[in-house]
Amino acid sequence: MSERTAVITGASAGIGEATARALAEAGFHVVLGARRLDRLEKVAADLAGTALQLDVTDPGSVADFVQRVQECHVLVNNAGGARGLERVVDADEDNWRWMWETNVLGTLRMTKALLPKLIASGDGHVITVTSIAGHEVYPGGSGYTAAKHAQAALHETLRAEHLGDPVRLTEIIPGLVETDFSANRFDGDTDRAAGVYRGLTPLTAQDVAEVIAFAATRPSHVNLDSIVLKPRAQLDGTRAHRSE
Ligand code: NAP
Repeated sequence: MSERTAVITGASAGIGEATARALAEAGFHVVLGARRLDRLEKVAADLAGTALQLDVTDPGSVADFVQRVQECHVLVNNAGGARGLERVVDADEDNWRWMWETNVLGTLRMTKALLPKLIASGDGHVITVTSIAGHEVYPGGSGYTAAKHAQAALHETLRAEHLGDPVRLTEIIPGLVETDFSANRFDGDTDRAAGVYRGLTPLTAQDVAEVIAFAATRPSHVNLDSIVLKPRAQLDGTRAHRSE
């Protein structure tokens, strides 16, 4: 069988980088997209992969990226994140806009652009990294939870719209994963970010990547619709057991 191609968005760090490594290990040719090309090129060089600059919030960048992808069997919609933790009464519209542009419209643009190639491959797979924030709400989280709910709804809709087409759809729903996610959320405040993971053992990016690779390597007729993974000590977005 010829080598299959996997496109991973947000592959310059965290879950996306680990996913590129895991899918390359599983035998895929990996195409890595993100804004920081220097970081992408270092990762791609380790994996004999392809690094292409990509800003999922920019339609022109998405079009350029997709034009350079000859074929695609797996798309991992991973680029995204959170900004801020304000209550609705203090909501920052710029933060909301960033979260919607990246998580929701980014996933829409990439999926829309690559679906024809995924279907033409005869065995396509869209894997979208949402969050437990896509399935619950918590105080201060409205901008992120609203965006992740929308991203999850978009992804789930595709399952119905493409029933009968040769394309699988898997939603990956992580809880706490220790990456740059929280430092980015808190505008580079690493002390505040460390507090998110205090007193428990969070998931690593590799933990999530291994689950994504498992989903991507099932036989073609097996669709893992959604997979929730959390640290053992985490119950939901607001409740976790933390040692002092
Ligand atoms: P991260 O370490 O901050 O990585 C985010 C990645 O997204 C980076 O590679 C970044 O690359 C990329 N990105 C951001 N904006 C982009 C844009 N406009 N265009 C292209 N790429 C962009 O965070 P992470 O934890 O790995 O997050 C990955 C995904 O998992 C996100 O969708 C996040 O919501 C989700 N998630 C994370 C957690 C968690 O606890 N960490 C939990 C549940 C779900 P560049 O800056 O180079 O563009």
